[in-house]
Parts: sequence; C-alpha cells; structure tokens
Amino acid sequence: MLFSDAQWANEELTAFSDGIGKFLDREVLPRRKEFETAGAVPREIWQKAGDNGLLGISVPEELGGLSGSLAHESILLGELGLRNEMGFGYYVHSIAVHYVLAYGTEYQKEKWLPKLATGDLIGAICMSEPGAGSDLQGINTTATADGNEYVINGSKTFISNGQIANFLVVVAKTDKTQGAKGISLLGVETDGLEGFSRGQNLEKLGLKSQDTSELFFNNARVPSTALIGPEEGQGFIQMMQQLPWERLIIAILGVGIAEAALQEAVSYTQERKAFGKSIAEFQNTRFKLAEAKTKIEFAKAYVEKCIGKITSDTGLSAAEASMAKYLVSEIQNEVVDECLQLHGGYGFMMEYPIARMFADSRVQKIYGGTNEIMKELIARSLLH
Ligand SMILES: Cc1cc2nc3c(=O)[nH]c(=O)nc-3n(C[C@H](O)[C@H](O)[C@H](O)COP(=O)(O)OP(=O)(O)OC[C@H]3O[C@@H](n4cnc5c(N)ncnc54)[C@H](O)[C@@H]3O)c2cc1C
Repeated sequence: MLFSDAQWANEELTAFSDGIGKFLDREVLPRRKEFETAGAVPREIWQKAGDNGLLGISVPEELGGLSGSLAHESILLGELGLRNEMGFGYYVHSIAVHYVLAYGTEYQKEKWLPKLATGDLIGAICMSEPGAGSDLQGINTTATADGNEYVINGSKTFISNGQIANFLVVVAKTDKTQGAKGISLLGVETDGLEGFSRGQNLEKLGLKSQDTSELFFNNARVPSTALIGPEEGQGFIQMMQQLPWERLIIAILGVGIAEAALQEAVSYTQERKAFGKSIAEFQNTRFKLAEAKTKIEFAKAYVEKCIGKITSDTGLSAAEASMAKYLVSEIQNEVVDECLQLHGGYGFMMEYPIARMFADSRVQKIYGGTNEIMKELIARSLLH
C-alpha cells in the first residue's frame, strides 16, 4: 500500500488496498496491451470494477455504494499509480460522482448514483473546449433554457473517458452576458441523446489505453432537471470547490508512478552489468536512486497530509491542492526521467515499463490545470 505510513492509515484501509491490488492485477494488467491497441479500457472491466464496489466508493450504501471516504478513494488511486495504470479512468469517474454527491438534488442522486456505482453509467467531466482550457470563463458551450428543457450547443475537447462515458458533467454557459456567474453544470446522460456525438479517439503521446476525445452538442435537449445545483450560475463556484480533489488525485497518482519508477530502476540497476560490475555499484547510480527516494518521500508526506486534510473538517484549500499537483507532477517527471536514464537504451523500449511511465507522466503537468495556473493560484493565496 502506497500510504502505509500515513497517520490516517489503518487495518481496514490496508485490507481494502490489498483487495484493489488483486483486482487490478487479475483483471486489468494482464490485458493492458489489448487495451492499448483498442485505445480504451472496455466497459466489461468497468462493470467488474462496479461489481467489486470500486466505482461508488464514496456513494452512500443505500444508493449502492460503499459509504467510504476520500481516504478509500486515495488508496485506490495509489494502487493505480503504483501500477502506472492510467487507462482505467477511475479518476475522472470519481470527479463526476463527487459533483453529484456534493450538489445533486435527491432526485439526481437517486437517479444517477446507483448507476454510477455499478458502472451502468461511466462518468466524465467536460470543461475544456478547443478555444478554452486554462481560461474556463472563455467557454462557448451554451445551455439555453427552453420550457422544461435545456438545449446544449458547443464542443468539448480532450475529454478523458470520452469514448466510453455515458454520464457527462458538462460545463456550459446558461447566461452568455455574464462571465463566471453565467456558468452552470449539467448532468447529461448520453445514451440515446439526439444531437450528441463523439469525435475520434485522440492519438496521444502517452496514456494509450485511455480514451480521450472531442464531444459535440448540436441542439442536444436534456430535461431541466439536468441542472446540477439549486439554481443557474453556480458552476464556477462548484468547480472551484471540487478542483482541490481533482488536483489531489493527480498528485496521488504522481507519487504512485514515481514510486513504481524507482522500484523498476532499483531492480534493473542491480541486474545490469557494465565494466565488470552492476550498474547499481556506480556512485552516480546510487546517488540518483537516493535522490529519487528522497524526493518521493517528501512528496508522499505532503500528499498524505493533504489527504488527511481533505478527509477532515479542515478541508483542503485551493492553494494547498495546487502545491500538491504542481510539485508532485514535477517530481514525478524528474524521477521517471532519471530512472529511465538508468535503464540506458532499454529505457527507451516500450517493452520496459519505465518507457510507458515516461510517456504517461508528461501530461500530469498539463491537465487538471497546468502547473503555470497552479503557481498563479498559489501566488494569489500569498498576495492580497
Ligand atoms: C490527456 C488529457 C486529458 C484531459 N482530460 C480532460 C478532461 O477529462 N476534462 C477536461 O475538461 N479537460 C481535460 N483535459 C484538458 C486540460 O485540462 C487542458 O489541456 C489544460 O487545462 C490546459 O488547457 P489548454 O490545453 O487549452 O492550454 P492553454 O490554456 O491554451 O495553455 C497553453 C499554455 O499557456 C499557459 N498559460 C495559459 N494561461 C496562463 C496564465 N494565465 N499564466 C501563465 N501561463 C498561462 C499554460 O500554462 C500552457 O503552458 C485533458 C488534457 C489532456 C492532454
């Protein structure tokens, strides 16, 4: 378990972690190549994850979930990170679930959460557009009220789970005359939705088994009960409140992947020989491994603290989450790069796990808000 030293770790979480590890090792890892070729983790795996209780960890038991906490979800994310399993987009499903948990009406919770817990609904979060990523106030997608419906028009891009998701949390303008105050969130079920279509599965540098897509809305009509929250115009505030969890997710995955990269380098450098001795005997190798271990432990300690805060009444501030996302993703990329270097030419070969880790790690500095935007948020908390 990645967080076995955390103050909040306990026997129940350790057992939970063991169960998740077994599930991933049995169902996902042996078929990874197949999923990479397909460009997505198939629905069947999601369904099995749902059967094992993994898709509704924070969903109340009476609605089909485990009534778990973000500590439980952090454990699952840690296990995904340790296996560099970024194809199974649990991390965005969780974000969608938390919007419903936090702001959904009773009707919405009863309608969506049981299906999100089983995998009948797979979640995605649709913020980014071709013309607006960092600057979310600049989105063009609109949701126009028409009787007891909203009519959605616009396009989204880079949407994780974009090919497989059938429950979208869509960020749209319900009032084009307003900036942030004109933004609302809608929960959109896409099965059979006229006017909704998916673009191609985007070809990426890494995350080969993750489906990332453009999505199009052309006069797509959804019931007015799709609006998440009590009234229009709450979307920006809701996103600001939920983004700390989204950013912490990235940090947790980052610590796990860095740890996995170090384990690969530790074992490889002890096996590989040059100049009559193992690579691990060179002082440079030993120093690089030591530096990586130290960075990971510092990153992990901060992330453990953040998990402790987000699961307590204190909560996790936007700046704290930004610091975790920014520095852990930088550390992850440094560590993975150094560990790849210790593999020599083999590190560049896709048959070695470190090569996939390298390709998959880069995006951690970009999505969930770029690291430049993270620094803006941190600076904002310092300067008044
Ligand atoms: C694999 C992948 C998966 C993704 N999944 C999702 C998803 O599921 N849902 C979703 O909504 N989005 C998703 N995204 C989109 C992602 O969140 C955006 O790419 C990201 O927020 C950056 O937006 P952008 O690409 O438009 O870059 P831009 O905003 O155009 O930024 C370009 C550059 O300018 C810099 N920049 C912009 N503004 C400032 C500023 N004020 N100060 C300093 N520098 C600045 C940025 O840091 C960056 O370096 C995903 C992206 C990728 C690559």
